[in-house]
Amino acid sequence: MTARVLVVDDIYANVKLLEDRLLAEYFDVMTAMNGPDALDICEKGLCDIVLLDVMMPGMDGFEVCRRLKANPATHHIPVVMVTALDQPEHKVTGLQAGADDFLTKPIDDVALITRVKNLTRLKMLTDEYASRASTAQGGSSAAGVVPLEALEAKSKERAKIMLVDNRQSSADRLIYALEDHHDVEHEMEPQQALFQIAEGQYDMAIISLSLDGFDGLRLCGQIRSLERTRQLPVLVIVDTEDKPKLLRALDMGVNDYVPRPVDRNELLARISTQLRKKHYTDHLKDTVQQSVAMAMLDSLTGLHNRRFLNNHLDQLVGQAKERAKSLAVVLLDIDHFKSINDTYGHDCGDEVLKEFAARLKTCVRTQDLACRYGGEEFIIVMPETSSWSAQVVAERMRRAVESKPFAIEKGARTINVTASLGLATMDTVEDTGESVIKRADQALYRAKREGRNRVVSDAA
Ligand SMILES: [Mg+2]
Repeated sequence: MTARVLVVDDIYANVKLLEDRLLAEYFDVMTAMNGPDALDICEKGLCDIVLLDVMMPGMDGFEVCRRLKANPATHHIPVVMVTALDQPEHKVTGLQAGADDFLTKPIDDVALITRVKNLTRLKMLTDEYASRASTAQGGSSAAGVVPLEALEAKSKERAKIMLVDNRQSSADRLIYALEDHHDVEHEMEPQQALFQIAEGQYDMAIISLSLDGFDGLRLCGQIRSLERTRQLPVLVIVDTEDKPKLLRALDMGVNDYVPRPVDRNELLARISTQLRKKHYTDHLKDTVQQSVAMAMLDSLTGLHNRRFLNNHLDQLVGQAKERAKSLAVVLLDIDHFKSINDTYGHDCGDEVLKEFAARLKTCVRTQDLACRYGGEEFIIVMPETSSWSAQVVAERMRRAVESKPFAIEKGARTINVTASLGLATMDTVEDTGESVIKRADQALYRAKREGRNRVVSDAA
């Protein structure tokens, strides 16, 4: 996918120069000649990265950057500050405004293209998560729910950082620069570091590219190729004169870099930026996982819901056929549930349903699938279970319900509850999930008719 680059500069010749270079690399280019126009384009979601001039009349680049990073709709767009002022304090001001990187005029072509490619690639990964999160939430815009303040606060907490540097004096200086703010673990040996990174829960890795006797780039590559470490933010420390190495590192997907001699404020600001991005990505991943879980679970009882059962039952039936194993289905219905609702109210009905589900859970094995099937109807699917074993389990469930009264009205009173259970097993190759459930339902009907509070098996 072609990245869309927004070039912002108050001088037309500068805009034109960058535009031509980017077009030559087949990027889509948009331009703006002042801050407000740039903000407008970004808010509309039209660009993947912003190249932002610092010195502009009216709103300067720092302010534009600050506003982009404070807006949930634009905070994830990478910003590269283009500056003639190659001074550390301007860098730090830019980083504190949330800038992702810097380019110094006159702009070097290779540096320009590499940074744009690197940052847009990382953004597209995040966009993919954002899109999944939005889908999982039923298509609502994920941008609207980004808790920016919480993420900001989180990025200020102490992070667990793996530092890989086998030159002791250099490592000592870096640890000294970081230890007030973060928990740093230092590893001299690159392969040992890789092992630890894969095993431990690190928030990011800082790797010196000038390791004695080892190519730091190789470690970066290994981190990027391992499934468990692929997403870990990696910041490299580079010698200023070793520009080709830096460009290769960026090309490999290293997240950021700091040149030697390391400016402590710059290092800390860049770490904050990476942590903020990581927390944002983690937030999106959690959103996806929670939504997926919610779509599969019944919110009242925490059991799986009917939708999940419908999706999953065929798979269980298929597996049972493939392995020539039996499969049992137990359908449960709470006796006289309507009168519980009518007598004590729906809140008490809900209390009974929750407690009922909790008691079922104590009777099933981890491989069994327990679902709320309808209002007061539940279903247990038991793989690799014979009719006889299923009857034992079903009887255990019946007793678990009958044996002890249910607390209602938050424990103020108790009532007796019973359930009827119908049981069926998959017998023939023609059986489907649907046909087994149907027979379990017929058995349940008999259990009701024969006086309730009992288990009836379809085979019996
Ligand atoms: Mg300017």
